[in-house]
Amino acid sequence: MHDFKYIGNRFYCESLNVESVARKVGTPFYLYSHKTLLDHFRKIQRAFKDIDPLICFSMKANSSLALVRALVNAGAGLDIVSGGELFKALKVGCPGNRIVYASVGKTEEEILEAIKKGILFFNVESLPELDLINEASHRLNKVTQVAIRINPDVEPGTHQYITTGKLTNKFGMDFLTARKIFEQRSRFGNLNINGIHMHIGSQIIDGAPFLDAIRRVIRFIDNLRFLGIRLEYLNIGGGLGIIYKDEKPQTADQFAQAVLPLLKKTGLKIILEPGRFIVGNAGILVTKVLYIKKSVEKTFVIVDAGMNDLIRPSLYQAYHEILPLNKYSSRPIKAVDVVGPICESGDFFAKNRKMCLPNEGDLLAIMSAGAYGFSMSSNYNSRKRTCEILAKGSKFAVIRKRQSYQDLVEGETIPNFIK
Ligand code: PLP
Repeated sequence: MHDFKYIGNRFYCESLNVESVARKVGTPFYLYSHKTLLDHFRKIQRAFKDIDPLICFSMKANSSLALVRALVNAGAGLDIVSGGELFKALKVGCPGNRIVYASVGKTEEEILEAIKKGILFFNVESLPELDLINEASHRLNKVTQVAIRINPDVEPGTHQYITTGKLTNKFGMDFLTARKIFEQRSRFGNLNINGIHMHIGSQIIDGAPFLDAIRRVIRFIDNLRFLGIRLEYLNIGGGLGIIYKDEKPQTADQFAQAVLPLLKKTGLKIILEPGRFIVGNAGILVTKVLYIKKSVEKTFVIVDAGMNDLIRPSLYQAYHEILPLNKYSSRPIKAVDVVGPICESGDFFAKNRKMCLPNEGDLLAIMSAGAYGFSMSSNYNSRKRTCEILAKGSKFAVIRKRQSYQDLVEGETIPNFIK
């Protein structure tokens, strides 16, 4: 599943002793395994090899340049959702024709830029957006490919904040609206509306919702074909769940076996947009215990990482395993809250977690932090964003340096009327 493990009592990433990294770069820091990252990408590639899909890594999961470059070098395309992600995608050398662009709120400026850069297609989420892309393409004298994002109205059985394919969510369009668009496609003279997109949510453990959604979408595609409307692309999104605790998510092979027969029948070029599956278990957050605080009710393990570094527990009540970098068998097991230094009671990594009571100064690994970890981090409480480290074998490189206090005030000015 990943390349983080104990050798004796010491914790390793590939063949790199993680504590030795901490001594060099300080804490907290994100640490990624190059091997795990590529292994997970290749698992999907292999599982779907029969149809040779374009696997567009979803940059929102982690857009750190070194990781994205490694995936692009391995043949990945990219799923982007902003002008910033487009900028970074091009910066790592991803060819435009391997980039697909979703988001319910693309601005005119972002749309113009993406057309100029020749992305493969937009995943369009509303009628006004479709009009704007048509108009922008007209101005640039281009014909732009678009896929209509369908909201298939299925329940993916994940956290409500990462459920995206129900009609109460803001994403995509219902079948009727989509059908009207296809019927009136001649109205959009500068668009080639030749794809369907769906993405029903994230951290989906069970295969059934995917199958349900794909079946609905394929029925829709068949109806379009009946009307003489032919497509080129079917983008089935991302959303494959990973193991954080004791989940038993479908494997890439199981997923492929279930959906391949359906996908093959469409004869369309298939796109996938996995994010979490590729990078989630390829990264950890390493943090140091600052204090052990005993209150009347609880024992708090206060660490030097906070919700600004990894917000998933606060935002989604997400579970992350927490392991000591040095295993200690002689310590008592205790139920503790592992919390950060931020002035919010929501700043925690674990609640009532039974673990070997660490000592102050001990180092802990917060596991499965590669996806939606650094990419969702912030400077809240004027905290410097952490550094990121990439390990390969026994070597490592700093792929993002820790921010300085000066970075925290970069771009700010105090106007004269205050001076
Ligand atoms: N595609 C789209 C449109 C998304 O919104 C997301 C995430 O929310 C993804 C792909 C990636 O999802 P995941 O990281 O669960 O694979």
